[in-house]
Amino acid sequence: MGEPIERMGECHSCSECCQTVNMTVVRDITIQQHGSLKELELYLSYRGIRVVGSDEEENRLYYSMAVPCSELTKDNRCRVHDSPNKPLICLRFPTTKQDIEEIPDCGYNFQSTRRGANW
Ligand code: SF4
Ligand code: SF4
Repeated sequence: MGEPIERMGECHSCSECCQTVNMTVVRDITIQQHGSLKELELYLSYRGIRVVGSDEEENRLYYSMAVPCSELTKDNRCRVHDSPNKPLICLRFPTTKQDIEEIPDCGYNFQSTRRGANW
């Protein structure tokens, strides 16, 4: 059984999580299609997509695309906050440590509820 982990902290409205769309793809097939990870990164870079993580064990690659949300205002407010139109993923974000790996300044962090351990 895994460690009991609890989300701590709070959102300070930096809007970083509203600026990108993240995707997970199958690692081995994708790299095979492009010949190498370097070639894949070059190809994606022309489309504004970055490879932000690679997990050989899980056979996954993680992409990040700079696509700001249309509901984000110039002063970093969410137009649909506190409304039924707010996407579920936004209401719940972040749900895992991996969600904020690329956002070191996020106001949330994840800690083990086991004494003496934290992430
Ligand atoms: S990255 Fe974290 S602190 Fe910043 S807006 Fe998103 S949830 Fe809030
Ligand atoms: S809907 Fe709101 S919280 Fe979700 S990404 Fe857009 S601006 Fe951010």
